[in-house]
Amino acid sequence: MNNTQRKICEDAIDIFGAHHQIIKAAEELAELSQQVLKAANGDVNKGHIAEEIADVEIMLEQLKIIFDRRVSVEAQVDSKLDRLQRKINKIVKGAV
Ligand SMILES: [Mg+2]
Repeated sequence: MNNTQRKICEDAIDIFGAHHQIIKAAEELAELSQQVLKAANGDVNKGHIAEEIADVEIMLEQLKIIFDRRVSVEAQVDSKLDRLQRKINKIVKGAV
């Protein structure tokens, strides 16, 4: 997310309030969950999935701002991707 996009997220929190945006985040997560489950059951609508992923990315940015967690989220992502890579390597190595 670029600085202009982040500023819009900050403005949304200022205008609508943190509590409202936290609830909005939960709603958007539920909407993405619904689309993903539909796709898993064979009802794939890539346009709807893209729209809901975009909504969730916007709300995740706002959650990071509200809870002041950008740096720790980045550290968690690094750590979790390292763990995932080790798990993949273990499986690939075992398959050879
Ligand atoms: Mg949505």
